[in-house]
Amino acid sequence: MITIITTTGLCNMRCGYCGGSFDPKLVPDREVYSIEDLVEFIAERDSDVAFYGGEPLLNPRLVMEVMDSLARRDWGGRFIIQTNGTLIENLPKRYWLSFDSVLLSVDGRPWVNDRQRGEGSYEEVVRAARILRESGFSNDLIARMTVWEGTDIYEDVTHLLGLGLFDHVHWQLNVIWSERWDLDGWARASYLPGIRKLSNLWIKEMRRGRILGIAPFLGIMRAALFDDLPSPPCGAGSESFTVLPNGRIVACPIAVDSDWAQVGNLGDEELNEVRIGEPCLSCEYFKYCRGRCLYAYVERLWEEEGFRSVCNVTKGMIGIIVSLESEIRELVKDGILSFKELYYPRYNNTVEVIP
Ligand code: SF4
Ligand code: SF4
Repeated sequence: MITIITTTGLCNMRCGYCGGSFDPKLVPDREVYSIEDLVEFIAERDSDVAFYGGEPLLNPRLVMEVMDSLARRDWGGRFIIQTNGTLIENLPKRYWLSFDSVLLSVDGRPWVNDRQRGEGSYEEVVRAARILRESGFSNDLIARMTVWEGTDIYEDVTHLLGLGLFDHVHWQLNVIWSERWDLDGWARASYLPGIRKLSNLWIKEMRRGRILGIAPFLGIMRAALFDDLPSPPCGAGSESFTVLPNGRIVACPIAVDSDWAQVGNLGDEELNEVRIGEPCLSCEYFKYCRGRCLYAYVERLWEEEGFRSVCNVTKGMIGIIVSLESEIRELVKDGILSFKELYYPRYNNTVEVIP
């Protein structure tokens, strides 16, 4: 299990996708519960911990107190953080070196990133990645992209991989909670051809024994080879729960104002579960997609037709990746690759797998 701790509803950026901070009535600026109660919740469940926001480093005291407190206990979990990287100095180096995964928000090439995240933000996030590497951070550093109409998936993913800073690149499509846009047209003209080109590069490198850290491809291949992805792949509502600063526990970190997502409160013995149902359970792609996103599944903000459009894009990508399965199995048989290195995400590190 993973506990996502929203340290604050505040964000110091105003990206085009989400517009910045949460409404403080829903997600307060800082925690109002006792840290001991939170640590008890985590330790009892032997849960991994991910720090999230807003921007989690606007409340670094909570991050440090939770990490210190768990370090004093017999707790064998992992620490993860999702951050925009602008406040890297808010956390001393020894805390950074205790993370198993660090996810930095960056969308690709400088102009693609800065159009949505603000002028100069590409430089800042790449600076943060460099500082982490120079400080000796050698665990999983993940570039977490939001993919929108201006993205060229091949160019932007290869750009980030080419920086030599990130172990993995993951992305989410800017769909469902954004205004409706021409996803179908863009997917046909740009995204799916780009995915195909990227998959050609991926398999070409694998023939040489090198696995490019393209997280959605690896996650889909994990489903093909090991058939063990949770549903949804992010685990929301069944193996991932988010503690908000007011002590409410929700199934998904962005579902802060939805009754269906409220699963309990800090101090409760049991949490409710929220599960994916039909049409996903009967979908022929369910083995790989696993319902994609619980929030999108329940909310249907683009209505039924929009939900189907996203499904079509998902199916297109899954088809491209799964077509590589038999060759990848051959590469394992020939000793060029191993199943162990193909298993990613190795644990729930908040990479949602299906974009
Ligand atoms: S492709 Fe669509 S219907 Fe099929 S499992 Fe994924 S989200 Fe559900
Ligand atoms: S993929 Fe969907 S359900 Fe999962 S954490 Fe993200 S928004 Fe929530």
